[in-house]
Amino acid sequence: MLTPALDAFIRRMPKVELHLHLEGAITPRTVLELAQKNDIEIPASDLAGVERLFHYRDFGEFLTVFMALARAIVTRDDFARLAYEIGLSLAAQNVRYAEVMFSPMQHLLRGIPLGDVVGGMADGFGRVHDETGIVLRTVFDYGRQYGPALAWYVLEVARESMGQGVVGFSIGGNEIGYPPEPFAEIYSAARQMGLGVMAHAGEVVGAASVWGAVDALGCARIGHGIRSVEDPLLIDHLIAHQVTLDVCPTSNVLTGAAASWQEHPMRYLYDAGVALTLNTDDPTFF
Ligand SMILES: [Zn+2]
Repeated sequence: MLTPALDAFIRRMPKVELHLHLEGAITPRTVLELAQKNDIEIPASDLAGVERLFHYRDFGEFLTVFMALARAIVTRDDFARLAYEIGLSLAAQNVRYAEVMFSPMQHLLRGIPLGDVVGGMADGFGRVHDETGIVLRTVFDYGRQYGPALAWYVLEVARESMGQGVVGFSIGGNEIGYPPEPFAEIYSAARQMGLGVMAHAGEVVGAASVWGAVDALGCARIGHGIRSVEDPLLIDHLIAHQVTLDVCPTSNVLTGAAASWQEHPMRYLYDAGVALTLNTDDPTFF
């Protein structure tokens, strides 16, 4: 438990959040209201029911619930509302800068134009900036299971959206069976466009996934990366090349990516000298 003095210090600190999913920061109330407004069926009919859905047993179940609930978000105004609510929550935690990821394929496959998503996020973030002064930016987090071919289209939209607060491109989704290497050309193109690049790696798959993100994709930032501890050579490489791991400890414990708080590798990585940031991932689910 935190001492009151440490708790107050952490609240007061100016902070950044670099690993945060838009769809994973939606509140149960907003899910319910948007589902009712848009006449979208979700597997619950009242607030208590939606709140129950926010509990799950493992990573697979988490992804299923996450996808089902994201369907409630439909219009540009919905995305703006979500972005605004997330921004206010960040400002209340004294977060001064955040990069918020969204999952383009999740919306594209439902027929939602990515321009509505990005435009809505820009609307919401702009309003938050006007009211609080904090700066919020958008990152495309492409589901790797959809493969590199479709990623070219998504990357092109990201490039066109750079004037609307889009600063980065990432791969996320199902790490098992979908290594980083096939995305090498996509990442090279993204870097040439001036986008920052990041990859989820070493969360549920081991050190090989992190090697791929660093070597094949040229990432200087890794989402999670905690399983880097399995390879001492990789630890040395991360330090030598100043690769930063955006670590989300609560997420890791709750999805089972780390067996327990005691066994979470963050302390080990920190003591070894790896650059780390602390993040929330999907705060309303975790
Ligand atoms: Zn993530």
